[in-house]
Amino acid sequence: MKVLVAVKRVIDYNVKVRVKPDQSGVDLDNVKMAMNPFCEIAVEEAVRLKEKGLASEVIVVSIGTAASQEQIRTALALGADRGLLIETDEEVQPLDAAKLLKAVVEQEQPGLVILGKQSIDSDNNQTGQMLAALTGMGQATFASAVEVTDDRVQVTREVDGGLMTLSLKLPAVITTDLRLNEPRYASLPNIMKAKKKPVAVTTADELGLALSPRLKTLKVEAPEPRKAGIKVADVAALVDKLKNEAKVI
Ligand code: AMP
Repeated sequence: MKVLVAVKRVIDYNVKVRVKPDQSGVDLDNVKMAMNPFCEIAVEEAVRLKEKGLASEVIVVSIGTAASQEQIRTALALGADRGLLIETDEEVQPLDAAKLLKAVVEQEQPGLVILGKQSIDSDNNQTGQMLAALTGMGQATFASAVEVTDDRVQVTREVDGGLMTLSLKLPAVITTDLRLNEPRYASLPNIMKAKKKPVAVTTADELGLALSPRLKTLKVEAPEPRKAGIKVADVAALVDKLKNEAKVI
């Protein structure tokens, strides 16, 4: 069974994001970029399936600028077998991403497609669900445990107030939650080996699709800066403030 993993290049989660002065978006100049953390968890899960002998090949796909090759190489260093970049300089919105991934699913015929539950840059939480709808595959979102047996996959999902366990027929789409696994670090020998693994490059055009963004960002605003705290003289003053100002007790 082939496993297809979608990985997105986003601003590194450690970076303090700066909004552009004209509020048209986030400043990406000279900003450290990385693989979306939920996609890293997706790669780790796919590699673990391969190590258990349940997956024959792990293919990573990214849609974005040529720079997304970096994230594909990272995934290869973590244990994926080959990569595919769908290169574009245009903005990629979830529906377009899902349509492009569907075209890759048709070419590769994976038994399982693993995506992150959400991109940390745009917080969409849409692509996996749209891909499942477009392909007709079953979907299990927010996975915190995955178990493949014969022609089915059992997925534990994190839902409000507890856990839900589903059994899906393969092929299926899974999106990862934070607690699914702890991704490994790429070792230096594996980073070197990853340089030799194949990465194909294609375009939306070659896949017979054209990007058609439907959403327009009107404005991006930074959160209000946090007000400085104050020091109180004693416990009585603290209790008084909690009671009469914050009104929490
Ligand atoms: P989103 O729906 O944007 O929150 O993204 C959810 C997941 O879809 C991500 O974690 C990726 O696995 C996948 N995805 C979204 N956009 C892209 C992209 N441009 N390239 C590759 N995968 C993507």
